[in-house]
Amino acid sequence: MSDLKSKILGGLYGQAMGDAWGMPAYFTIDQTWQAYGGWITEFLPGPADHPVHFGLPPGRITDDSEQAFSLAQAFIRHGGVSLEAAVEAIISWYDRVGGDSSPYVGPSTRRGVQALKRGEDPRQTGNWGDTNGAPMRISPVGLLHPGDPMGAIEDAATVSMPTHNTGVAVAGACAVAAAIAVGMLPGATLDAMIAAGMMGAEIGARKGRPWLGPSVARRIRMAVDIARGPGDALARLRELYDVVGTSLSVPETVGSAFGVLAMAQGDPKQTAIYAANLSGDADTVGAIACAMAGAFSGIEAFDQSILDTLEADDVTASYNIRALADGLLALVEGR
Ligand SMILES: [Mg+2]
Repeated sequence: MSDLKSKILGGLYGQAMGDAWGMPAYFTIDQTWQAYGGWITEFLPGPADHPVHFGLPPGRITDDSEQAFSLAQAFIRHGGVSLEAAVEAIISWYDRVGGDSSPYVGPSTRRGVQALKRGEDPRQTGNWGDTNGAPMRISPVGLLHPGDPMGAIEDAATVSMPTHNTGVAVAGACAVAAAIAVGMLPGATLDAMIAAGMMGAEIGARKGRPWLGPSVARRIRMAVDIARGPGDALARLRELYDVVGTSLSVPETVGSAFGVLAMAQGDPKQTAIYAANLSGDADTVGAIACAMAGAFSGIEAFDQSILDTLEADDVTASYNIRALADGLLALVEGR
């Protein structure tokens, strides 16, 4: 298998693994720690008392990966990244999950899709979208730009526009896409990915509509410093939770995703474990962080049993990750 194919597969499976691993986590570190008696070290079902993920089977992905895979499908169908492909992907996902009555649709995506369905201009429909839907689904854009963070940043801004066209949201999407683009290079380093992420955040913040919120780039730096600082792993996770944050806010989500990536030194499974126990919006932090870890380390870094569990789930199987990887690879090589 080529290095490029391995990294595309790693990014896609990483997205799914981090999402499904974090799915059963609760809102606070103590809740999660007490419910599971320590680290989450395997795929677990959504617990009956979980406000959103109750009843989901172990290994089930959520909205984050479904939307990422919908984007990948649309890019392949359209022959590349475009505003039209992004609109088609998000509306088709929304309709597939019955978005009007689904608890899985985030606030910005719901607002954007409803405006798109009213026939409004996709350059305007994302004008109020400032939550973490933009970075959570952006990984395929990074996978399409190996070694080209500027191309990834440009396309990430386009893809975010219909639902999340605010500076803070575009900053988060561009950070993740740029980091993945650099992680796709042979011999990539985590420090190069982190630097690309901070650059993507700075550029992306100026591409979106001027909006309020702290710097995504500074939050990435803060999270990585905490992750590499003193204390045991749980203490550093608590520091990430308390200081960087894990809510739907983009600087929090994206900052913490880079934090757990750095804490795990880019190992996909360890990244998933840290993201899950970090709690909060754990599936989203995990999806973003593990997409980056998978693109960095390639598919060989994943246990076969983990890939088998993901593939055995009906929802993931319906997206056919291996076909998506082939389609993305053909797009990259066709350029
Ligand atoms: Mg989710």
